[in-house]
Amino acid sequence: MQQLQILSSECVVCDADVKIPQNTQVSEVISCAECKTGLVIENIKGTTIRLSKAPVVEEDWGE
Ligand SMILES: [Zn+2]
Repeated sequence: MQQLQILSSECVVCDADVKIPQNTQVSEVISCAECKTGLVIENIKGTTIRLSKAPVVEEDWGE
């Protein structure tokens, strides 16, 4: 069984440890398991991943 390397970084909002799948690409949005904040993958350098808070998408109810 292949062992996948699990990357992690810190949530910029609550400092929780955020697990990041290895195949995650820059600019993908993941969400923090603790605070549910959307986090954008800003940069991946080796095992160092920089996150930033995703802009809140305002729900547009049409019109
Ligand atoms: Zn968080």
